[in-house]
Amino acid sequence: MNNIEKIYQQIIMEYNKRKDLKKELEHISNSKRGHNPSCGDDIYIMLDIEKENIKDASFIGESCAISGASTAMLIDSIKGKTVKDAKNILKQFFNMMSGENFDEDVLNDSILMEYVKDMPARIKCATLSWRTLEEIIKEIK
Ligand code: ZN
Repeated sequence: MNNIEKIYQQIIMEYNKRKDLKKELEHISNSKRGHNPSCGDDIYIMLDIEKENIKDASFIGESCAISGASTAMLIDSIKGKTVKDAKNILKQFFNMMSGENFDEDVLNDSILMEYVKDMPARIKCATLSWRTLEEIIKEIK
């Protein structure tokens, strides 16, 4: 394993330990389950949205390390943002995962998931929560 891979694994582990992102929410305005049968990832995203503001966000569920870290990174980056901001964060993430130009500043640590984009078996793990949030936002209109 080279140094970059070690750092990468370290950050993945740290995000998987973040209890402030993985918990039940008291007030839930919008929520959705995301399931990735090819790996077994099964997550539930909860949002507390009031007047276009994402006041709180979290998730629960069972997932592999990549899916868990990617979900934690997503939750961390949308907390306290507006729905409009979240839409842009999603857009930049999907651009990154499909190899297009993207705004690094918007994505924070989730830019690490770029490593997964060339791993066909894991890409669904990395994008599961992001696709789930996209569905939630579509329902808000
Ligand atoms: Zn997975």
